[in-house]
Amino acid sequence: MTYSYDDQNIFAKILRGEIPNKTVLETKHALAFHDIQPQAPVHVLVIPKGPYVCYDHFALHATPDEIVDFTRAVGEVCKLVGVQAGDNGDGFRLISNSGDNGVQEVPHLHVHVLGGRRLGRMLQKVG
Ligand code: 5GP
Repeated sequence: MTYSYDDQNIFAKILRGEIPNKTVLETKHALAFHDIQPQAPVHVLVIPKGPYVCYDHFALHATPDEIVDFTRAVGEVCKLVGVQAGDNGDGFRLISNSGDNGVQEVPHLHVHVLGGRRLGRMLQKVG
């Protein structure tokens, strides 16, 4: 399977410092920042610094170092913004929209960390 990365996407521009962001955490291989249009009291995006289009691209082709760093960054972000599910926290939802059916708008892998209120059903019931 091939993946074609467009380096003019908005998150590539954020990574190059061409567009500002409200950073929550930066690690060797990841950047986390507040979503510009939050859909919950806590809405943080975590992205890898590498040119990965979507979750499956990253999961299949990233190095172990990148995967560990990114995964740990998600955990750190949850703690930093106070939505962790452990330590009596209230918890959160992690979403990664990928491709057309996933309704992914920005073609650079990102996970949404959503929390700060009870989020309701994950998807609408069909029928
Ligand atoms: P997607 O639909 O691709 O999963 O989510 C893209 C997310 O990126 C949306 O929640 C949108 O609000 C966010 N977003 C789009 N442009 C920008 C931007 O320039 N800065 C930030 N911080 N978030 C953005």
